[in-house]
Order: sequence, then structure tokens, then C-alpha cells
Amino acid sequence: DKERLRLPPWLKTEIPIGRNFQKIKESLRGLNLHTVCEEAKCPNIGECWGGGEKKTATATIMLMGDECTRGCRFCSVKTSRKPPPLNNEEPVNTAAAIYAWDLDYVVLTSVDRDDLPDGGADHFARTVEEIKSRNSSILVECLTPDFRGNRDSVQRIALSGLDVFAHNIETVAALQAFVRDPRANYHQSLSVLKASKEFQPDLITKTSVMLGLGESDDQVLQTLKDLREVGVDCLTIGQYMQPTKRRLHVKEYVTPAKFKHWEEVGNELGFLYTASGPLVRSSYKAGEFFLKNHLN
Ligand code: SF4
Ligand code: SF4
Repeated sequence: DKERLRLPPWLKTEIPIGRNFQKIKESLRGLNLHTVCEEAKCPNIGECWGGGEKKTATATIMLMGDECTRGCRFCSVKTSRKPPPLNNEEPVNTAAAIYAWDLDYVVLTSVDRDDLPDGGADHFARTVEEIKSRNSSILVECLTPDFRGNRDSVQRIALSGLDVFAHNIETVAALQAFVRDPRANYHQSLSVLKASKEFQPDLITKTSVMLGLGESDDQVLQTLKDLREVGVDCLTIGQYMQPTKRRLHVKEYVTPAKFKHWEEVGNELGFLYTASGPLVRSSYKAGEFFLKNHLN
């Protein structure tokens, strides 16, 4: 097997811990809620939960359990053909917890639930509705599955009252089959992003691309253009990190200068914002970016 690349210095970070951090952590325990921040051991957790410099606290909540019906080769989430049924109380419990945490911006995401007729779209949408009914000023982003391109599912979420519709295209067209589950693909993801905006033109749409999987510069550029073509507003680009030994190897640690280059390209192509850097994750400081770039 191929040798593992050595971790470059720019990926060794210290984790600052804010005051909100403990509060969120403790309340998660009691509510049986999962966050991507914890599950993925995300290095940005102290910053995101603590709120960073601008005190815009963000957390990413994972709905519908921690067992996914898919098996993407970059992802460490458990795969199961038949995950447990949905917890019908989850939308209300999640909304109550978020209300208590004093967050400014929340990202709701989920595993893929190909076992459910609507892929879990109604569950997602109900959670948004419960959150907004308690505090309409909290900004809600949904980072959703592709629902196998089901437009009714996309519509249910697009009209739920959320602020940002996010769906990750993950990688360039040529690497889709190598990186993602066979049920996912490039055009399906583009069409989901496009459809969300057709159903609700006020939505901000957002996607994320990982680098370091063997993609060429031309392929990245084409991906960015295709995303703008379907009206995607916001883009995050980060380094792929191998989460466990059995997942895809990192082909390349892309330099900070190269990430900077893609940020400039993103700006030239007209994205509302492009966050590009080795440690940038899909929801990294999402609240800060949103407030800085959209509301002011
Ligand atoms: Fe959580 Fe995303 Fe921030 Fe990581 S970047 S801590 S997953 S909100
Ligand atoms: Fe992981 Fe999402 Fe793929 Fe499931 S669909 S394996 S959660 S990346």
C-alpha cells in the first residue's frame, strides 16, 4: 500500500476553547444529540463553538442518527443498510437545545437516509420550523443529502424557513465515482443546488469541495464554473484529511498559497464568498462569514 504523506506544519493547530464550549458539550450529553464537530473530531471546534473573534457561535448538529445508508470512501460515518427509525422527538429536542445554547448560527446536517421515502426531508424541515418558531433571528443552514435528486424533498426543505441551503459536491466530476457512494454524482448534486433556489429564490446556496484527492487544477476550475452556472452563492474549499486507516489516502497536501489562489478565483467568478484554506470545513465559522458578507 502507498505510504502515508507526512503532515505539513500548517495543519498542526492548537485548539482554543471558549466558554460556550463546555455549555454545549454538557447539554448534548443529556439530549442524545450528535454533532459533526465532535464526531469528526473537527479541529475548529473551539473556535466555532466559542464564537471566534466576532462572537458568532456556530455548531453543526447531525440529525437522523449516526448510521448512514451510504458509504463514501472519504467519510468515517458508520454504514448501515437499515438504520434505526427516526426519533420523532428530535426536531423539538434539537430546537429546544439550540434555543438554550445562545448560538447565532446553526448548521443542521444529517447522514443519508436512502431507506426513507423522502430521504428525511420532512424531518429536516420540521427541525427548521421548530427552531425558527422559538427564535426567528437565529440563522439556520441545512447541509443536506442529495435525496437522490428528489425535487419534492428539496422543495420541502427550501420552503421550511431556512436561510442557507447547502449541499456538498465534494470533489471534481472525474473523481466522483472514486470518492463518493455510487448513488451520488456530480450532476445530481448540481441539480439539487439549482432546484433549491428555484423553489425559494431568497435562499443563499452553498457547497464545499475537498482538495488533495488527486484532482487537477483544470478540473477544480471547471467545478467552480459549473457551480456558478447553477447559481451557487458560497463556496468553501478545504484539505481532505484521511479520517481512518480504511478511508482514501491523501494524494496531496495542497499548500496555503494554492488555497489562496482558489479563493481569488472564486471571488473573480462571482461567489458571494469563497473560504479556501487547509483547515476550512463546510461550516467553518459559517456565521461570521454570513454576517460579514451578507447582512452588512
Ligand atoms: Fe463544527 Fe463545522 Fe466548526 Fe468543525 S468547522 S467545529 S464541524 S461547525
Ligand atoms: Fe458520509 Fe454523507 Fe457519504 Fe454518508 S452520504 S457516507 S454521511 S459523506
